[in-house]
Amino acid sequence: MTPKAWSRVRNLCATGRGPEDLPQILSCEVNSLSLPGYLPELALLELTLARVRTAACASSLTIKQLTVNPSLHLLRLSWKNLTCLLTPYENGSVPAPELLEEYVIVWRHPRTGEALVRPAADEDLLVLKMVAEEVAPSQLAVVGKVNVHELDAAADRAVKRGLLLAPPSGIRRDLAEFPTDEHTEEDFLSSSVFTLQWHITQACDLHCRHCYDRSVVRSLELPQAVRVLDDLLEFCQSRKVRGQVSFTGGNPLLYPDFMEVYRAASERDFSLAVLGNPVPQESIENLIAIEPPVYYQGEP
Ligand code: SF4
Repeated sequence: MTPKAWSRVRNLCATGRGPEDLPQILSCEVNSLSLPGYLPELALLELTLARVRTAACASSLTIKQLTVNPSLHLLRLSWKNLTCLLTPYENGSVPAPELLEEYVIVWRHPRTGEALVRPAADEDLLVLKMVAEEVAPSQLAVVGKVNVHELDAAADRAVKRGLLLAPPSGIRRDLAEFPTDEHTEEDFLSSSVFTLQWHITQACDLHCRHCYDRSVVRSLELPQAVRVLDDLLEFCQSRKVRGQVSFTGGNPLLYPDFMEVYRAASERDFSLAVLGNPVPQESIENLIAIEPPVYYQGEP
């Protein structure tokens, strides 16, 4: 900005108008003072960041369901790349502003208290819409043409970034048994995930020397196995945690109804893993068609 333009803007701000009015002042003067066209929106972005810095830090301790961080602002800008003028990209690059629409989010991280700004990714917009409008993930998955599990994972990432607030986990350490101090982080005090490592069958097609359990145990019938999943779901919902099922054995894929149980677990939105043995490629493809496991660990 030229000295003349600075002087004009300063004078306007001095006539009873404060920093809050700067975006509008710049917007009115952008042509007469030959200012860069993106300056009013950059001022708006800085103003929003300043407001967020002084906003109360949100706490998730009292909320009952997934909620949008109340400090969050979603701005629809007509100029792109303005955020990197405030916080340069990690590689240090600062792309030039372009006259292209961009959504930007500004928020205060509930845990660190840091005021943050960045372009909104499609994933951010999708989960914010889901939570703000209380749309069921299954419904949004159809509209957005994504897998419901991807939505859950995106929501988890949004919670970690502080865009969303999740109710506190009901799985917590007993503080009488676990001394803490001011440096003890929440991650050490509670868990957001409960994992069931399920030895669903003792049947096995290997004979490892290190095997510690080849006892004969009768496997559950399919309806009983599905009831186990329902119980697990009820438990996880009551504790506000994500459920994970790690199927193991024996070789879990030798359970006669394994694909049905795996599908039932997927339908209940558990994160899935398999601790199994080497199996034909077709078996893995069948698993992936239902839901790719978070990992498949094969016994050598
Ligand atoms: S694969 Fe597992 S269950 Fe089977 S023999 Fe080896 S250690 Fe035992």
